[in-house]
Amino acid sequence: MDTKLFIKGKFVAGKGKDEPVLDPASAKVLANVAEASPEQIDAAVKAADAAFAGWAATAPRDRAAALLKLADRIEGAASELAAIESQNCGKPHAAVIGDEIPAIADVFRFFAGAARTMHGALAAEYLPGFTSMIRRDPVGVVASIAPWNYPLLMAAWKIAPALAGGNTVVLKPSEQTPLSTLRLAALAADLFPPGVFNVICGRGAQVGAPLVAHPQVAMISLTGDVATGEKILAAAAKGTRRTHLELGGKAPVIVFDDADLGSVVAGVRTFGFYNAGQDCTAACRLYAGPRIYEKLVADLSHAVASIRVGAQREEGVEMGPLITAKHRTRVAGFVSRAEDRKHMEVTTGGHARPGAGFFYEPTVIAGARQSDEIVRKEVFGPVVTVTRFKDADQAIEWANDSDYGLASSVWTKDAGRALEVAARLRYGCTWVNTHFMLVSEMPHGGLKRSGYGKDLSVYALEDYTVPRHVMVKW
Ligand code: NAD
Repeated sequence: MDTKLFIKGKFVAGKGKDEPVLDPASAKVLANVAEASPEQIDAAVKAADAAFAGWAATAPRDRAAALLKLADRIEGAASELAAIESQNCGKPHAAVIGDEIPAIADVFRFFAGAARTMHGALAAEYLPGFTSMIRRDPVGVVASIAPWNYPLLMAAWKIAPALAGGNTVVLKPSEQTPLSTLRLAALAADLFPPGVFNVICGRGAQVGAPLVAHPQVAMISLTGDVATGEKILAAAAKGTRRTHLELGGKAPVIVFDDADLGSVVAGVRTFGFYNAGQDCTAACRLYAGPRIYEKLVADLSHAVASIRVGAQREEGVEMGPLITAKHRTRVAGFVSRAEDRKHMEVTTGGHARPGAGFFYEPTVIAGARQSDEIVRKEVFGPVVTVTRFKDADQAIEWANDSDYGLASSVWTKDAGRALEVAARLRYGCTWVNTHFMLVSEMPHGGLKRSGYGKDLSVYALEDYTVPRHVMVKW
């Protein structure tokens, strides 16, 4: 296991407190990773700052070449990376190697290409005798803070556009899941000049906060909780730094009476429970039309009850544990408070699984009302609610009545209605007759308290660069 930090092109042991890193399926300690000391945080940012001018001046073709090599190495190390990621997150190994690793390599390849095709407005004379042109230049040192639910994928979403755009990066993975990111640093070590890419580990308050407060950090990129986003914003105010925030979600899933029931059930069974529902886009808040409601609840509960829960490499496993015991207690709390409200019914699941590991049963709750806590708050676990609506206006009003604005879906055979609903939803993404599908070419990011700024796509490259005006007098 790699446990050393990566600062200025060298692997160094953390000089801060030892943090145990667990396997959530067995609760066993996988490794101890010592977090960065204040001096090491400072050294990482200074190294990134010193490397910035050189990397910013590196031709896009050469930046792209390094990113392409990294993509190749990620594919070459797929089985090793998948083993680490699935062990540290508890995810089914097959899902990591089959879905996540290819997506991670693709992100690096996409941004390698995009780095060479950034475009701005044409040069032109907006005042007689003066030629104006637009440049797009990098921002500087980016402090990137990642969450635990997709450690390597989130690292890719952050570092690929930042490095493609000519920035340098200090990345801090979650203290719960640093192992795959440290392996990524080992794969990338000789591909970038020292200081261009650094990884430091540690807890939020002890390492994340001083990293983002560092005066030489020009931009802060966070994927995490809304409360953490607000702390980052407060920290960024000092020094007027740029921020890029991908925060929580509570995705509404509007199912009209004419929807294909089999597709909805199969879709929610997959997209509500992938990664044990620990996903900011999870299909977790269903609104069902008056005529499809009963059958949807029955069929979905039956389908969800068949989800195979188990450890990473168990035969046919579809869903793993939650990330920590504390998080499982939080999820269980939401479900037991919902059960206390007598109008809701847990139609399947609703219990922690006894034994080692932080497993929780895949759960469906029927009869939920718009005002219920479990409809309004992000559970971030394998729990889906179903609420009956009377007409399209009510469904859209309830779907939009949320602090969050990341992802949504609408299920209907009526293409006109799908387009109308998509136009009226206030979410960064609306899927029609599907959910959860992401591609490197399309932007991912939220509205409202889900944050702002885009991951993936050329929009991310724009977020990590600044348009500049150069004017030349004839
Ligand atoms: P979190 O906010 O607790 O932690 C995220 C990261 O922030 C961790 O690395 C943590 O150490 C760090 N951190 C915590 N406090 C900090 C501080 N004061 N200063 C700097 N860094 C600090 O979130 P989490 O529990 O790891 O992840 C779950 C959350 O992430 C959920 O709310 C989920 O919806 C969200 N998420 C969003 C997206 C998206 O694309 N919008 C994707 C994945 C996860």
